[in-house]
Amino acid sequence: MNGIPEQWRALEERVARACGVVGRDPASVRVLAAVKTQDPERIAEVLACGARLLGHNRAQEMADVVPRVRALWPGDFENHFIGALQTNKVNQVMRYVTCVQSVDRLDLAGKLSRAAAGEGRVLDVFVEVNSSGEETKAGVTPDGAVALCGAVAALEGLRLRGLMTVGANSPDLDLVRESHELLARLSADVTSSGLPGTSGAGELSMGMSRDLEVAIAAGATMVRVGTALFGARRPAV
Ligand SMILES: *Cc1c(COP(=O)(O)O)cnc(C)c1O
Repeated sequence: MNGIPEQWRALEERVARACGVVGRDPASVRVLAAVKTQDPERIAEVLACGARLLGHNRAQEMADVVPRVRALWPGDFENHFIGALQTNKVNQVMRYVTCVQSVDRLDLAGKLSRAAAGEGRVLDVFVEVNSSGEETKAGVTPDGAVALCGAVAALEGLRLRGLMTVGANSPDLDLVRESHELLARLSADVTSSGLPGTSGAGELSMGMSRDLEVAIAAGATMVRVGTALFGARRPAV
């Protein structure tokens, strides 16, 4: 495993190459560093390399790590929440995040809306879709995605940015590609739905260490990368 600066550069090259293959501008794809289980020192190192988006999976872990990262890295960065979110963790999460990418049900959106509006701020959100049909996956079903997007976009204090998915958990990249292409079709359905607040919600957060080329070919505007930056995670305890 190389150091984080080398991994960051290699990742930027992968993104640029994947964009080149399909004629996209590399600036149209942002990289979010998925930082679950990482130490603050390593997260600060990624920020020093140029990362500006951090993705967190657990509320308590985020609350522990973000202040320590801020102490090490004085520059700007944004925290996105990308994991399963219980409604009773919303207030804790709101202290750190600019964006919640894992909105998969209306009661969660309602809680986020009340929290954001109560603070007089606007929170960016993505609707998470279960694009693979795997039972263990979070996300609204593809059939319910447009309706949920319309309902979320109508809530005060929230700004719908687009759709997020964790693609099929398979070494078969054709299967993963189907997940990403489904999300891209749903995104077109959402932005052309005519529902208030949806026409600008064309972001596509999809693609991880293993499948980011496939995701970029399918139109990803944000890839979420952990292993390719930090190396294999230690097992959760
Ligand atoms: C961990 C995680 C990622 C990054 O996965 P890697 O395979 O380590 O790149 C992306 N998205 C979500 C939601 C994650 O939990």
